[in-house]
Amino acid sequence: MEERFVETFSPEETFELGRKLGEEAAPGSIYTLVGDLGVGKTVFTQGMAAGLGITEPVNSPTFTILQVYDEGRCPFYHFDVYRIGDVSEMDEIGYEDCFYGEGVCLIEWANLIEEILPEHYTQITISKDLEKGFDYRKISVKRK
Ligand code: ADP
Ligand code: MG
Repeated sequence: MEERFVETFSPEETFELGRKLGEEAAPGSIYTLVGDLGVGKTVFTQGMAAGLGITEPVNSPTFTILQVYDEGRCPFYHFDVYRIGDVSEMDEIGYEDCFYGEGVCLIEWANLIEEILPEHYTQITISKDLEKGFDYRKISVKRK
């Protein structure tokens, strides 16, 4: 298990990290995204989308579990499972075609669907440290 940490000091830097990972992401790879409300998950996701070549606006899909973007160099599947009641809802939206397809998946609140996560994925965790300033974020990138 390999883990590295990136510190950012502005939303732009978090966006840039997302963009870089989006540029590097291999089709078929899965990223999970963990962090409290307002920590920068959407900022990171927007960067990742940009790195995949998506120019349309990307927001939090709070009321839809899955948002699909087809515009980039491969499909981008953005999941937000915060409001999921039961893992069976993932079956209903056909998650397997996304997880095991040719696109890149990003799953917010993935801890709620841990039992269906594949063996290998990259876990992104964003956290604040107010002692280091309001705009400081520590971002862990851990390959599992
Ligand atoms: P989440 O999706 O996790 O709820 P958002 O991405 O919607 O959070 O919001 C993050 C907020 O924090 C934005 O208002 C953004 O401008 C601000 N912010 C301040 N510093 C940073 C940083 N270093 N990285 C990301 N966002 C930051
Ligand atoms: Mg968000």
